[in-house]
Amino acid sequence: MPHTDAHAHAADLAAFVTASPSSFHAAHEVARRAVAAGFTPLDESAEWPTGPGRHVVVRDGAVIAWVVPPTAGPTTPVTVLGTHTDSPGFKLKPTPDASRAGWRQASVEVYGGPLLNSWLDRELAVAGRIATRSGEHLVRTGPLLRIPQLAIHLDRQVNDGLTLDKQRHTQPVWGLGDAPGLLAAVVGDVCDPADVLGWDLTLVDTQEPRTFGADDELFASPRLDNLLSTHAALTALLLADSEDITVLAAFDHEEVGSETRSGAAGPFLSDVLARIRSGLGADAEQAHRALASSVCVSSDVGHSVHPNYAERHDPTTVPVAGGGPILKINANQRYATDAVGIALWTAACERAGVPSQSFVSNNAVPCGSTIGPITATRLGLRTVDVGVPILSMHSARELTAVVDPWYLTRAMYAFLSPAR
Ligand code: ZN
Repeated sequence: MPHTDAHAHAADLAAFVTASPSSFHAAHEVARRAVAAGFTPLDESAEWPTGPGRHVVVRDGAVIAWVVPPTAGPTTPVTVLGTHTDSPGFKLKPTPDASRAGWRQASVEVYGGPLLNSWLDRELAVAGRIATRSGEHLVRTGPLLRIPQLAIHLDRQVNDGLTLDKQRHTQPVWGLGDAPGLLAAVVGDVCDPADVLGWDLTLVDTQEPRTFGADDELFASPRLDNLLSTHAALTALLLADSEDITVLAAFDHEEVGSETRSGAAGPFLSDVLARIRSGLGADAEQAHRALASSVCVSSDVGHSVHPNYAERHDPTTVPVAGGGPILKINANQRYATDAVGIALWTAACERAGVPSQSFVSNNAVPCGSTIGPITATRLGLRTVDVGVPILSMHSARELTAVVDPWYLTRAMYAFLSPAR
């Protein structure tokens, strides 16, 4: 693939993360970049063109972009790169204004499984989607709120074990007094606040991503889970030149189980694949044959061994930061990876010239899951779960080695390439 370097890639990842404070923004940013690269945006409710082409479609906070090469026919296989656009954090409740003890407060609900302590004492923005009488709008504010930590003088035992109540201790302050008006502050001059009928709004840390450390080899950023993979997959897709149909599917709601119309357990990907297939004139038999030789790489962040907690990890399989993408393996199929998938991914890493490593859980510390098993179960696609080893997963600010997102991108590019 065209030469860049890991730092240039990290700078582009930082720009992508900054442009993507919510899943809705992320889907929009993927589509914007794809269109800038020559893709045509499609509307799900319109008639789609048939045959070869480069297209992208957004469904709420999810996005699918694909390339049908000129040589494609009814049984051409599909190579899918699957990721997710959402990150754990907080969402505004339906009555967002509150006040107590001289403070204007926001009423928020926990989304997914954030490390609550990492959200304390940070200046937070609000970003997401509002629905008005005239349609949908994306909105984002500047620094507006903060979840203040309790002073140590009022909790002398705090360093022996911080306990945060998800309701009482997580409500941000955003001003003085008791006047309502948070929604008006969020909407700004996008529209008349009185026209806002519904919202999907999340809190966002306002600190910018940055590189740091010895030789500038570390990269700190919010939402690496999983904008890192989404950015890598998009970069690979835009550059790839394959004889297969190549697809980026970035789903919403992975952090809350994926069972939504824009989540991996919903019909979005199968709907798009069916429409592509019918556009190629495939009958049901041909569609099944194509699917049987298709493959999916599901990419999400994984755990680098934490130097302060090495006993939480497997003692012999030791993924390290800077060691290249990880293959995620789990006997209980929390990851979809199997032997054949391992071989396909390992060969792609070899072609890309990037190192590869494995992740498996300590038996006493069960792992999370990804969209991989869900996509594989829904579609029957052979799926391999991969990712980048990070620290501080689900923190408001996560940590990766600068080189690993670039390694992942190169491996994905090789996976999409014709030599597979
Ligand atoms: Zn994730």
